[in-house]
Amino acid sequence: MDNNTLRAGFIGLGAMGQAMARHLHGAGFLAAVWNRTAAKAGALAQELAVAAPETPAQLAQSCDVVFVCVAADADVLAVIQALEPGLQPGSLVVDTSTVSPATARTAAQRLAARGVGFVDAPVTGGVEGARNGTLSVLVGGGAADVERVRPLLASFGQRIAHFGAVGAGQAAKAVNQVMVAGIAEAVCEGLALAERLELDTDALIDTLGNGAAGSWFLQKRGRTMLADQFEGGFKLALLHKDLGIVQAIASELGAQLATTQAALADYGQLLADGHGDEEISALIRLKRRQVGSG
Ligand code: NAP
Repeated sequence: MDNNTLRAGFIGLGAMGQAMARHLHGAGFLAAVWNRTAAKAGALAQELAVAAPETPAQLAQSCDVVFVCVAADADVLAVIQALEPGLQPGSLVVDTSTVSPATARTAAQRLAARGVGFVDAPVTGGVEGARNGTLSVLVGGGAADVERVRPLLASFGQRIAHFGAVGAGQAAKAVNQVMVAGIAEAVCEGLALAERLELDTDALIDTLGNGAAGSWFLQKRGRTMLADQFEGGFKLALLHKDLGIVQAIASELGAQLATTQAALADYGQLLADGHGDEEISALIRLKRRQVGSG
């Protein structure tokens, strides 16, 4: 089948999924959308003039490639189950959610029994990256399946890296989340210390941001966290979920990941305190308490 005539469906129109679906539409691939909260799908379908079928299975019937972007492992498996009755042999499911490599392999096995392909394609680059179409896409799957969907991934991904068989994209994403969590630990702790030292934090972000401590997180979230703005962006409940995935991988390998352990405990505390829907930079709430600056 010609890649340029593939019809794509999108399931899961949250902060990331809605933006990715828009890019697929812009590239001429989007045929249908579905979301658990139906009003979101209805509004987007009307705006983009695409279909909004009632069930995932109905969406699957009219699409060659079904993209999924939902929250966690159980959600992906529930969506796959709902899609199954409608999926045509030869079609493909591409999961862009962040879940465990084991869940990716389970999904692939279930679909293979129906002659349906599966590609894990978690993304990094944040909500901004999704909106701007500049995500990095970390891919696992068979080479032919990956090549088939590459033009679709390119509609929202600036970098597309194929790491190996199904699950390899999620393994690469787990490594990414170790780094994301570690950078957040360091930047939030550093800025809480800067407040305690009564430094000019505006000057500090500009100066340190252009030196060896410079990072995406310091540049994009430094000023907002100092102003106690934690809405939008990457919800800390999702990072907590991702660190649980990393922890499971580490215990399978018998590996010690000290920074991941610390971050998991910190985000667990913030979740228990009712901050799960806030952006991950809300970690500064805890760091302020630990540093004695808030
Ligand atoms: P979000 O805004 O909370 O959206 C979650 C979406 O999943 C919503 O459309 C929700 O439907 C749907 N959903 C959840 N459980 C479902 C279920 N059981 N059945 C059907 N639909 C379900 O989350 P997000 O920020 O877009 O993140 C989505 C995925 O991308 C997560 O795996 C996350 O870890 C990953 N990710 C996020 C970022 C980021 O910066 N936000 C970056 C990279 C990767 P409703 O509308 O009905 O709630």
